[in-house]
Amino acid sequence: MKIIQSRSPRTGRKRLFTILGLAAAAVLITFGTVLQLHLSNSQIPLSPEKTAHPVPAVSSVKKKKTVSKVPRASSAQQAPFCTPAVKQTLPNGRMVYLTFDDGPSSLTAPLLDMLDRYGVKATFFVVGAYDKNETVDLKEIARRGHTIGVHSYSHDYRKIYASPEAFFRDFDRMHTLIQQATGVDAKILRFPGGSVNGYNKKTRAAILKGLQRRGYVYYDWNVSAEDAVRRPASQNLVQNVLRGVHQHRVSVVLMHNTAAKEATLRAMPQILKSLKSEGYAFGKLDPSVSSGPFAF
Ligand code: ZN
Repeated sequence: MKIIQSRSPRTGRKRLFTILGLAAAAVLITFGTVLQLHLSNSQIPLSPEKTAHPVPAVSSVKKKKTVSKVPRASSAQQAPFCTPAVKQTLPNGRMVYLTFDDGPSSLTAPLLDMLDRYGVKATFFVVGAYDKNETVDLKEIARRGHTIGVHSYSHDYRKIYASPEAFFRDFDRMHTLIQQATGVDAKILRFPGGSVNGYNKKTRAAILKGLQRRGYVYYDWNVSAEDAVRRPASQNLVQNVLRGVHQHRVSVVLMHNTAAKEATLRAMPQILKSLKSEGYAFGKLDPSVSSGPFAF
């Protein structure tokens, strides 16, 4: 009893210190987690898209996550700047929107054949400055029933994001080229480098306002095939797409269709077969598809 009494205050102090220590650790961990979350949310998501078109490096550009889990944007971003005239909704079931940037190219015709073979429609965000058979290829994309959207004419980041005027000069040039080749009045677009990139910090807001005024809708993506890397292995691209799509009910998948993207073409049969067998449907984008969940 005596022993217990004499040790009791010390034990009490020990316990008190232990509790205080644990509480301090919990506070630190919570603070750390909150800080980390805040930083990850405020970090500018940058496009993983490195196209066949040379883009000058910008030191402030940080690497974006392979698969961005959107929506996780601020409330301002969740309500997209480009409010379309039509009501936007998401499909009820599991849906995959395959999108191909930077074409058309010599690999557009084989890609179209592949998509036909599986009865899949997709979306092509096209550029104007690179394909020798531009008109023929654009026509073919439209004839086979896919959506054509504007990517840009030049894909020159420095040029197009220099000012809203420069952006719309380039945009209009591509829009007109599509219209003259196919008769299609393209209503959707994808920004080169994504809507948030290292080149449009100063011009982004004005460009988005201009697009809204003109009634265009833009789409970023929530899954990337990561096919813009040098010499990608088609098996990796298959894995990237499947892993990404499995994380979302509705996916907008970023892929590329330049002449260099043979690996993407080789990856297609397995991507299409696997997702079809898993019950996913494939759709093409149009302004009625909710753009908010796919806007960075
Ligand atoms: Zn691009």
